[in-house]
Amino acid sequence: MNTRRGYTKGKKPGSRRENTGKNRNSSGRRRMNRFMWTGFVILVLLTAALGARGLLSAGRFFGGLGYGRVDVDASEPEIDVQLLDVNPYSRPGIQSSGITGIVIHYTANPGSSAQDNRDYFNGLKDSHETQASSNFVVGLDGEIIQCVPTWEVAYASNERNYDSVSIEVCHPDESGRFTKESYESLVQLTAWLCVKFDLTADDVIRHYDVTGKNCPKYFVEHEDAWEDFRENVSLAITSEN
Ligand SMILES: [Zn+2]
Repeated sequence: MNTRRGYTKGKKPGSRRENTGKNRNSSGRRRMNRFMWTGFVILVLLTAALGARGLLSAGRFFGGLGYGRVDVDASEPEIDVQLLDVNPYSRPGIQSSGITGIVIHYTANPGSSAQDNRDYFNGLKDSHETQASSNFVVGLDGEIIQCVPTWEVAYASNERNYDSVSIEVCHPDESGRFTKESYESLVQLTAWLCVKFDLTADDVIRHYDVTGKNCPKYFVEHEDAWEDFRENVSLAITSEN
């Protein structure tokens, strides 16, 4: 605000008057001061403009659609291991062919907990309803349940089941947007898995990228939020190394 006032003052009528005779020296000095003042103002404006540009580009990263930068590293998160019983519907017991990617999903079951989803997967051995599971489920409070070992196939990502680790994430409502707690756990878990399997954030994909399915919904419908997520994973990996 001060900057703006100073700038207006510098442009006052009369400020351009020069060499009018009697007060030549003092007006010259004033002119000199004005030059310095103007230079200073320009410097401040330039700095502000560059700062604004920086903020704008950061705005993509910290956009309202995403969660901003989260302060997590790639250390191993707390994982509640509750392996499914080996069965043809959710844990076939087949060894993966080498992990080359991490696939992110949403549960498509608003309000359900990580435990609900894990129990549903395990119950498929009896219900035979469908074939489904995932290596991990991240809950609404950020809790992580592991259902299938990372070196075993889970039924989540279609043709990528054999060479990826899958993560299902719970969500409170139909929008599919994750809670802040789920999001932070997801960033840490994904970053940790990347380090564990020598992958980068580029190897982290959506179920959508495999089959075109609207999963994880929020990250499919908000590309910026997805890019933010991968950026956060990348930053978490870097902070670890
Ligand atoms: Zn999915």
